Amino acid sequence: MKVFVATKETQGQRPNDFFFGTEGELVKFGSECDEGSADDKCGCHRCMIGFDTNKAVTTFKVVHMNMTMEKYQAKYRESLIASGWVKLMTEKELDTWVKEDTKALVHYADVVSIGIPLEKRGNAIQIRHLDPPAKTVPKTIKAQHKAKA
Ligand SMILES: [Zn+2]
Repeated sequence: MKVFVATKETQGQRPNDFFFGTEGELVKFGSECDEGSADDKCGCHRCMIGFDTNKAVTTFKVVHMNMTMEKYQAKYRESLIASGWVKLMTEKELDTWVKEDTKALVHYADVVSIGIPLEKRGNAIQIRHLDPPAKTVPKTIKAQHKAKA
C-alpha cells in the first residue's frame, strides 16, 4: 500500500523547515492550533508527525510499503498511545480516531506519485518543487530598477 513517510529531501528549501523525526518513518497528521498559519513560529500547520518518534517534520513523500491496512492501523494506534494523547479518550473514541485518520492518510497517499517530496501547507498537501525558489531578484527586474534610478 502507498503510505506517507518522512524524508529529508528538499529540507532547507524553505527557511523555516525542520526535521525532528527519522528518515523513512511513517508520518501522520498532528494536532494543530486553532489559529495561525503555515509559516508561523509554531509550525503545526506545516508539519506531519512521525509514527515512531512522535516528532515533527516538514518534508515527506509517498512510498510503497508491504503492509495491510490492519497492520497500518495497529501501528498508528501504537503511535497515538506512545504520544500520550489518548489518555483522556475512551477506547471507542480511539478506534474512531484511528479509523478516520488512517483512512484519510491512505486516501491522500494513494493519489500522489511515489517518491516526490511533499509538504503540508495548512490543510493542503502539495508537491515540493525540486528546484529551490529563487532567492535573488531576477536580473531583468534588477536591470529595470537600475534604469529607473
Ligand atoms: Zn500551532
